[in-house]
Amino acid sequence: MAAPQKGDLSASERKILQIIAAGDVQEAAQLLDNNEVRVNCLDEYGMTPLMHAAYKGKADMCRLLLQHGADVNCNQHEYGYTALMFAGLSGKTDITSMMLDAGAETDLVNSVGRTAAQMAAFVGQHDCVTVINNFFSRARLEYYTRPQGLEREPKLPPRLAGPLHKIIMTTNLNPVKIVMLVKENPVLVDAAALEKCYQVMDLLCEQCVKQQDMNEVLAMKMHYISCVLQKCLAFLQKRDDKLDALVKSLLKGRDSDGFPQYQEKFIRDCIRKFPYCEATLLQQLVRSIAPVEIGNDPTAFSVLAQALTGQMAFVDADYCATCGDKGADKRCSLCKAVTYCSLTCQKLHWFTHKRMCRSLQEQDADLEKDTPRLKELKDDESDLVMETANFLQELCLRAEEKVAAAGGCPAELLACPSTSAEGPSCNQDGGRNNRGVLNDADDDDVERHG
Ligand SMILES: [Zn+2]
Ligand SMILES: [Zn+2]
Repeated sequence: MAAPQKGDLSASERKILQIIAAGDVQEAAQLLDNNEVRVNCLDEYGMTPLMHAAYKGKADMCRLLLQHGADVNCNQHEYGYTALMFAGLSGKTDITSMMLDAGAETDLVNSVGRTAAQMAAFVGQHDCVTVINNFFSRARLEYYTRPQGLEREPKLPPRLAGPLHKIIMTTNLNPVKIVMLVKENPVLVDAAALEKCYQVMDLLCEQCVKQQDMNEVLAMKMHYISCVLQKCLAFLQKRDDKLDALVKSLLKGRDSDGFPQYQEKFIRDCIRKFPYCEATLLQQLVRSIAPVEIGNDPTAFSVLAQALTGQMAFVDADYCATCGDKGADKRCSLCKAVTYCSLTCQKLHWFTHKRMCRSLQEQDADLEKDTPRLKELKDDESDLVMETANFLQELCLRAEEKVAAAGGCPAELLACPSTSAEGPSCNQDGGRNNRGVLNDADDDDVERHG
């Protein structure tokens, strides 16, 4: 059959374009099943049905068309737009991912030399930019699940490919989030598995640097993930509460202002250990981070995340104080100063947040005096989170009384005092263990710098 010509549409093909705009998937499926429609037909502007569906943001329709063999890389549009470009322009991250999964080339350019990511950035669709910049094909990872050359075993056991790919594809690079992704997959919570995974990440990093069109951004991301996996491995081997201890170390705020010092040092260390010192990206990162005193803005994480995801982040969205997920819509009801994506994340954070919560509450009260309007905007927390925060606060007050009554040292309050199993931040061993983790983490740093 001859290649479709622009504007050469049958009546059914004209009809399907209308159906796509209206979004009736069943009707479209019927036309496609009856072979009345060439799935890659072109309208007078050179747009395929898939391009129409992507631009209109119709995910189900895109899926249907791809199932029927739509060419995701068709490039006959009058200005050279592809379906991926239309997806990026639509601002739909699910459709953007779908095009990438279907094999969309990210480096095709339109008639003025712009890639899909650049076009999406131009119209302010930063979430789509992030999805495109973070795409890494599963096939490229699966290469390592087959023995190569003289290998008797593959570098990556096939069962690890799925969970590792999920980590590679995450657009939230918060180290806590990555540890959580490891934790949620029992196959990864294993020393031998983590070792294999980080070694493959190191190989991918090297590949990204050495390939013809060097991709420093992807190389840095691979290296960074490798560093987090190595850290998981170290905690898994050394400690009793393993990955939970790592999460705590990463979240723990320093006494003076609650700033998560360990996390900052860890991320700086990851960047510093990037093995290709001639990389421009590395030099840029070091220049942006080195002059900043620990505890000041920008944090190493925000600089790294911006470089790797292309997000001009942290302006228009609330980020979870624990895992960094975007769109966190629950707030600590006591201080109203920190946001969380979930109750789980609030509980994980409480052991360190509780020490800052009160002073933040005082700040909030000051704020209220000066500008009462700000308060109103913050009054949207869910009841559940409010309840938990109250509950946690009460536990601490009670403990404070107990310690005071016993004439004890207030430093013991560093540990959550509750013996109740519900106490989310409760550390069964009390403050000793808490401090132990931090100390060890610091030792670890000394060791690495030394
Ligand atoms: Zn969270
Ligand atoms: Zn609070």
